[in-house]
Amino acid sequence: MEKLIIIGSGPAGLTAAIYSARAKLNPIVLEGKEPGGQLTTTTLVENWPGDEAGVMGPQLVLNMRKQAQKFGAKMVTSMVIGVDLKNKPFKVMTKDQTYETESLIIASGARARMLNLPRETELVGRGVHTCATCDGAFYRDKEVIIVGGGDAAMEEATFLTKFATKVYLINRTEAFKASKPMLERAEKNEKIEFILNTEIKEYLGDQKLTGVKLINNQTNEEKSMKIDGLFLAIGHTPNTEFLQGQLDLVKHGYIEPKNNVFTDIEGVFVAGDVADWRYRQAITAAGLGCMAALEAEKYLAE
Ligand code: NDP
Repeated sequence: MEKLIIIGSGPAGLTAAIYSARAKLNPIVLEGKEPGGQLTTTTLVENWPGDEAGVMGPQLVLNMRKQAQKFGAKMVTSMVIGVDLKNKPFKVMTKDQTYETESLIIASGARARMLNLPRETELVGRGVHTCATCDGAFYRDKEVIIVGGGDAAMEEATFLTKFATKVYLINRTEAFKASKPMLERAEKNEKIEFILNTEIKEYLGDQKLTGVKLINNQTNEEKSMKIDGLFLAIGHTPNTEFLQGQLDLVKHGYIEPKNNVFTDIEGVFVAGDVADWRYRQAITAAGLGCMAALEAEKYLAE
């Protein structure tokens, strides 16, 4: 029987591991198949407080992982395939093992939706990005594309105009999912040009993105366009497939947190992007991981 299991090894899960291991709760971190979460697919992180020169995303999570291990957290590189939260102790199932635990922190994160075009994975961080707040500053005085038509696309397009000289917003239809005020704000911004009924057909460039091939899905007309960077803002998918039927999920699968890190089940806490469709930052995930660990500690003591 474990005291605490943490599902997820991004900044939320690892910060929860650091705090709970220091508090002698001997947490087990079920890291997933590719430990480290979304930070492992970024390059330079310039907005992590305390690291003036910036730190590479993969290095940042590696440092957190080592720090958690130093205090005694146990890492298991394994995917959670199911949980039983209806009875206590809770059960957490991986392919190889079933764990029983008194408390649980779910920090399994979210993944950005991708276009699934050839070479997309290798170009992530090399011209293709999924977070304007994180990587927008690399495009000072450059031209960028943002793909999407929701609130995130509008917000990120507007944000990118702080740096880029020109932002092309490419939406696959003429309709926008974005709310009216956010759409209007983007439309009023002179640096943003809307390209509608258009999809990205191909990424151009070898080591780094240098352009894209576009297709107008009404006329089938194709054209190539030179571009310095491209930001995908076509939504995120929370990693909650293993929670089906166990916790209420909202907004296409997110957990809706109560009071930041609580769920409807006593002893089950949540932290990071799996329950945050708004901020989605490493620092907010880490902060929530800390809060979840402190609450788990309090719960176990009581
Ligand atoms: P949304 O799901 O709201 O929008 C996704 C957008 O991406 C849609 O325009 C969709 O187009 C488009 N899209 C999806 N798949 C593809 C694809 N394969 N190719 C091209 N385009 C595609 O996601 P968001 O991330 O924008 O927002 C998520 C949630 O967060 C929403 O509830 C939003 O309101 C909220 N949010 C709020 C903010 C705020 O209030 N400040 C800021 C950011 C987000 P289509 O319509 O054709 O499907």
